[in-house]
Amino acid sequence: MESRGIRNPDILRVIRSTPRHLFVPPNVRSKAYQDRPLPIGYGATISQPYIVALMTELLAPAKKHRVLEVGTGSGYQAAILGQLAAEVYTVEISPELARSAAETLRELGYANITVRQGDGYQGWPERAPFDGILATAAPPELPEALIAQLAQGGRLVAPIGPMGSQELMVIEKEAEGSIRRRSVCAVSFLPMKPA
Ligand code: SAH
Repeated sequence: MESRGIRNPDILRVIRSTPRHLFVPPNVRSKAYQDRPLPIGYGATISQPYIVALMTELLAPAKKHRVLEVGTGSGYQAAILGQLAAEVYTVEISPELARSAAETLRELGYANITVRQGDGYQGWPERAPFDGILATAAPPELPEALIAQLAQGGRLVAPIGPMGSQELMVIEKEAEGSIRRRSVCAVSFLPMKPA
């Protein structure tokens, strides 16, 4: 992690102390501490820890922030965010994954994370605005609803683009409401499914 440029001590500490093996199915548990994505069933994968760290660093969650995640999957990224922000809301389209992630997070005592089954393209309007939004599935283009749900000064971190040519983007909503976007690197995520 450090050797690849992740410097934030809070993020490094949280990644080191979060039991990734408890977020993956038993058949891949022995590989839980390798720096690679792993299958979690229902066609989904838990991201590589380095990518989780990088996206978390780009989002820069703070203790007073309210954060939205799109693509709960195993709940691991939500658990990392929950330890760095005030509240985390996370939306997952697969009912089975939403249920099992909610159960894992409850069992492990992450009390400030709320999971719901639904379509992440719509965000979570009842809980908006968010200081940070992090998507872990890739929409072909920037979803307007997510931009609309960003607080002023808020930041969206998302892989954007079609399969095979996605870029990790950071989009910031400035105080006066204008949007600034930059590309960080090429990435490879599962597509964000249409509802
Ligand atoms: N953050 C997860 C990894 C998620 S993989 C973790 O830490 O384990 C991407 C997830 O996005 C998958 O679980 C997939 O089911 C979900 N997904 C795909 N399209 C979606 C959509 N439109 N809305 C919400 N979730 C979606």
